[in-house]
Amino acid sequence: MPVHTRRRFLESIGLGASALPAAQMPGRPASADSETPQPSRSNIMAIAAHPGDAFFAMGAPVALEASLGGQGVFLSLSLGERGSASIPAPRYGAMQREASERAARLLAAQAAFLTWSDGEIPVNEEVKLAVCDIIRQYRPAIVVTHWKGSWHKDHRACYDIVNDAVFYAGLPAIARKDKAHAVPKMFYADNWEDADGFRADTFLDITPVFDRWIEACAAFPMWLGENGFRYNDYYRSLAVERGCLSGSRYAVALMSPAEQLVRHARAL
Ligand SMILES: [Zn+2]
Repeated sequence: MPVHTRRRFLESIGLGASALPAAQMPGRPASADSETPQPSRSNIMAIAAHPGDAFFAMGAPVALEASLGGQGVFLSLSLGERGSASIPAPRYGAMQREASERAARLLAAQAAFLTWSDGEIPVNEEVKLAVCDIIRQYRPAIVVTHWKGSWHKDHRACYDIVNDAVFYAGLPAIARKDKAHAVPKMFYADNWEDADGFRADTFLDITPVFDRWIEACAAFPMWLGENGFRYNDYYRSLAVERGCLSGSRYAVALMSPAEQLVRHARAL
């Protein structure tokens, strides 16, 4: 990757603008590349344990790609139905689903759901293959998901599930309904619950979609702090802070898997 400065890196990465062919990505199954067309910069999938995580912590990059005419998909592994102390889980789950669908529409994206129990998302082959199938269905050039350094067990589970699902999705030898798809790029999201060891290495200017993204987040019943955490205040001000650090009005920070930062150079 011809990157000489952080600024050049941010410009060149454009969240997928110059995605490397999968065969060049260390740690990715090179054989899958033969079945994967050159990735589109506009195809991005957020995969989260709960609907709120998908939109609050991962939504802005998806909104940006969708605003460029691309395909954005929000996949939640549960409905986050146990997130309210006062609303019964079945009703709250329905509210979360409805909010996700409304928010996705606002961002010209799609919402998809797997409905494992909130708080009890299992880490097993069934879940990993279900996520693998959805990755193969939508064929994203970029996947954004949870960082593993989380106090929330569902978030840690999601990290494990998605990393293995991406691996499975790229292996042609794993025969599923859709053909193999190697995901060229992954990022971990800047989530208040996943801060342990999170190290930002990519700052994405989200200024063009900031207002729309906030409007989408506001579709959720917890956004203004109804469940105890002030999401609106936190993610708004975080975007300002990240913008200050990266020379834009609003930005989100992302963390790359270590392998994605490996450079192949002929000179330093
Ligand atoms: Zn969560």
